[in-house]
Amino acid sequence: MSSDLRQALEANDLFAKKSLGQHFLLDLNLTGKIARLAGIQSGETVLEVGPGPGGLTQTLLESPAAQVIVIEKDARFVAHLKEFFKSYGDRLIVIEGDALAMDEASLLRKYEAKGAARLISNLPYNVGTPLLVKWLKAGDWRGPMCLMFQAEVAERICARPGQGAYGRLTVLTAARCNARLAMAVPRLAFVPPPRVESAVVVLENHDHPYADLAALEHVTAQAFGQRRKMLRASLKGLGDCEALLAQAHIDPTARPETVPPEAFFALAKAWRGVAL
Ligand code: SAM
Repeated sequence: MSSDLRQALEANDLFAKKSLGQHFLLDLNLTGKIARLAGIQSGETVLEVGPGPGGLTQTLLESPAAQVIVIEKDARFVAHLKEFFKSYGDRLIVIEGDALAMDEASLLRKYEAKGAARLISNLPYNVGTPLLVKWLKAGDWRGPMCLMFQAEVAERICARPGQGAYGRLTVLTAARCNARLAMAVPRLAFVPPPRVESAVVVLENHDHPYADLAALEHVTAQAFGQRRKMLRASLKGLGDCEALLAQAHIDPTARPETVPPEAFFALAKAWRGVAL
């Protein structure tokens, strides 16, 4: 346990706020495991969203990363982090703000980050999915990601076709990344414990990503919006969906959870071709 960190939290009365999804990791063995899974390379910039009291941040600062940039919405922790980690000087950059609204590319330019930034975070549950989707759409400022989600979301990100968890988030993720469930983290590892289990997902960038995420968002919203229906029924809003399905070599009687990501990429491409 990091007793220094615990003492600092108690001394400054830094209690967890439910509204900001605050569940803290104060066990440095566990944060060390997360940092190892992330595979930080020497000289990289690491971006952490929601550092909170800084248990994970501490491990990131002990890694070979050149700089660690953290974005925290709660002003109480911004002040605490600046004070607690002041011995690390310029290697730690603490930004107060909402990660959903942050322009990461400008931020990284401002702090002269070299190469793509690696994203490592124990994400607040209430904004984990929108942040992932935002980062999937990101430009080349974004490197690989190692992110903690509630277990159910982690399963959706990493599911295979045919599994109950397979859905829109799986397909959007597969357009850009290879995702794997790297570690389950029990509720009691957090202070205070959340109601649900958590898991760490490692996401490496594809060498040949599917570029048109907007088209993919559109077709998967239609397909998975009515997941019990056959695609020829749920995709009617796309226009001549039987022709689009034929072009993408998808069986019109299939249900969306059986269709692999690559077939959805072909469908999005076919729809875009007609929609343009
Ligand atoms: N990383 C810390 C840890 O592992 O102990 C804290 C994780 S806690 C699950 C989530 C953190 O994200 C909290 O510190 C919370 O204040 C912060 N947060 C919540 N919403 C945010 C947002 N939109 N932008 C930036 N930080 C946010």
